[in-house]
Amino acid sequence: MSKLVLGNWKMHPGIRESLALARGVLLGIRGKEALPEIVLFPPFLALPEVHKLLARSRVGLGAQDLFWEEVGAFTGEVSSRILLEVGCRHVLVGHSERREHLGETDAMVRRKVEAAWRAKLVPVVCVGESATERESGGAEAAVEARLRAVLGGLAFPPSARLVVAYEPLWAVGSGTPALPEQAAERHALIRTLLVRDFGFPVAAVRVAYGGSVMGENAYAFLREPEVDGVLVGGASLKLAQFLEIIQAASDVLGSRNP
Ligand code: PEP
Repeated sequence: MSKLVLGNWKMHPGIRESLALARGVLLGIRGKEALPEIVLFPPFLALPEVHKLLARSRVGLGAQDLFWEEVGAFTGEVSSRILLEVGCRHVLVGHSERREHLGETDAMVRRKVEAAWRAKLVPVVCVGESATERESGGAEAAVEARLRAVLGGLAFPPSARLVVAYEPLWAVGSGTPALPEQAAERHALIRTLLVRDFGFPVAAVRVAYGGSVMGENAYAFLREPEVDGVLVGGASLKLAQFLEIIQAASDVLGSRNP
């Protein structure tokens, strides 16, 4: 199975900077074999231009959010229909920054997952425990409760795909990543929950790690069999770092298929 390298650019780059970054990624992977599945998540307004650049390349495009209705009087929102028009195949849902700053709830995230699936987009559902939950020994229970609220009881549509990004809140943007072995353990729990408890098809589900992934630690995460990929924020904005992370994924893939 391939590995995923997902770059969440957040609200950092403008349109010109997004294009420059995307161009840099394309140049950096030119001629490389054993590439991971790479998906870039630029800000909404950069999507059409970045899409033109990535068309027919080996790099996919995703959005950082979507609204749960397809069309209607929802001022300021962006629907799956629009995302498909600008070439997106993936969409982040429930990122911790949206939960923290915009009051996004599990119920809202659940509707967004359903909307993504209806449109045949791949939702990348972000879940993780807070620092307080971790310190009180409640990390696993918190992740499980969030996953149950967002995904429990949903009917997995035929041919749909799902990525769950395990993103401990204390690790996102902090420079302090989780330990790769701990992340792997949590991934195993998440996968068990999705497959055994929710009945989702194992081959259609991927679990990626996010939280202060950088060039120097990417290999340690990606070599864990339970870690299907990485969701990268800060380091995806630094071209050399991001290419190093892609290289780490390629190295892991190459070492598996000599
Ligand atoms: C993220 O934005 O999802 C993220 C993991 O950020 P960072 O890599 O900067 O911690």
